[in-house]
Amino acid sequence: MERLQKVMAHMGVASRRKCEEIITSGRVKVNGKCVKELGIKVSQSDRIEVDGVPVYREEPVYYLFYKPKGVLSAASDDRDRRVVTDYFDDIKERVYPVGRLDYDTTGLLIMTNDGEFSQLMTHPKHAIDKTYVAKVKGIPTPRHMRQLERGIMIDGRKTSPAVAKIISFDQAKGTGIVSLTIHEGWNHQVKKMFEAVGLPVQKLKRERFGFLTLDKLQPGDARILKGHEIQKLM
Ligand code: URA
Repeated sequence: MERLQKVMAHMGVASRRKCEEIITSGRVKVNGKCVKELGIKVSQSDRIEVDGVPVYREEPVYYLFYKPKGVLSAASDDRDRRVVTDYFDDIKERVYPVGRLDYDTTGLLIMTNDGEFSQLMTHPKHAIDKTYVAKVKGIPTPRHMRQLERGIMIDGRKTSPAVAKIISFDQAKGTGIVSLTIHEGWNHQVKKMFEAVGLPVQKLKRERFGFLTLDKLQPGDARILKGHEIQKLM
């Protein structure tokens, strides 16, 4: 017997935290009875439904996806904008994004139906390095890099030591390209960090997640992650 939210996450419904919300909002039935409490335990033989649709255990699948610009990191949008799951319509599993990239951010996003894996990848203790490349307004200097690396106060919390490198700058246009490697994943963290040092972000791309890179993928492309790659991330 295992907790309902854990079993649902395993079945690929959503992350464990999201499953808790789904349960408390009254969308889940176990053996035909609505369940709103988080404590209950279920077994393999219990029949679970979400919004009246039975859920079955899916084989876990993992994809590396190159998120294009103008796509929401969500499974649906009430304003009908394009969402990352639209790119996975032709597979039978219901995958969703591991963490989020902003609507206008491009780059590497893992998509999976494995709620436990998703939770581990986004857990602060797991501290996976993520490298972003930003086009910024302003000329980046070594002083800016030191500030970014030492840590920035954002909403009352200081960011952990980071690695910041100037890739190039254009004196005439007054812009620069900077790479920043962080291991937290706070909301709009990279944009806020650059903003705080006076280099507002004009374009943002995530190039690396742990040891994974985009390689030859193009925006909108996805490839299956291999078993040994998943192991290495864990
Ligand atoms: N930090 C941001 O500000 N935006 C992203 O999309 C990812 C990290």
